[in-house]
Amino acid sequence: MSEVCENLNEVLGHVSAACLRAGRNRDSVQLIAVSKTFPADAVRDAVEAGQDVFGESKLQEAEPKIAALPGSLHWHFIGRVQRNKVRKLLQNFEVIHAIDSLRLAAYADEIAGELGLFPQVFLQVNVAGEQTKGGFEPDMLRAEMDSLLKLKRLEIIGLMCIPPAGPDAGSARPWFVALRELRDSLEAEFSVELPALSMGMSGDYEVAIEEGATHVRVGSAIFGKRAYRVDGELG
Ligand SMILES: *Cc1c(COP(=O)(O)O)cnc(C)c1O
Repeated sequence: MSEVCENLNEVLGHVSAACLRAGRNRDSVQLIAVSKTFPADAVRDAVEAGQDVFGESKLQEAEPKIAALPGSLHWHFIGRVQRNKVRKLLQNFEVIHAIDSLRLAAYADEIAGELGLFPQVFLQVNVAGEQTKGGFEPDMLRAEMDSLLKLKRLEIIGLMCIPPAGPDAGSARPWFVALRELRDSLEAEFSVELPALSMGMSGDYEVAIEEGATHVRVGSAIFGKRAYRVDGELG
């Protein structure tokens, strides 16, 4: 058995255990294997182990990888979205996790129209108000929600966050709670369903599941330590 396969099985075990602890159905959580910086062969190992949902954060790196792998896989874009990459992102990825402004959302909606697509997206929330991170400030999101919901093409399935790095798994819990509560209040205020919460990474996905995550984005716990940093905000 490959190391990736062993790691994946271990992570899946933790996902199931967290669901059990939280009294949640195992089907309510999707594991996204974040393969950024790792080659197509590593993805193949994970596919052999039964994984078919993958996350990437750079278009340039992801495009050839996606092209080299079976068309049956599901690709999520978890990185920061650059306007000039929107068209290709929509052509390559089923789900975009980090729509971080109304302007970007409106543009993606327009391009989705040109491409005849109805992409699923998450709205990224800057839960801790960090200067270095993208995302809607919660008040701004509330103010722009009506406009966001008018977009015809984007299927806004929920909220996503990348909390500040902390000393242990538990330190992200308050931010996961904050994202869930923001989601709950937006649902009530705007009579809309936002069923999905994209939160939790290798260090804290179990806590995220306990707090309601429906999509956990796990990279290094499956593929190993990354040899280089991918972007400014996450290694
Ligand atoms: C890299 C990355 C992850 C995965 O991080 P790990 O700590 O390796 O699990 C999750 N989410 C985003 C947005 C990322 O960029």
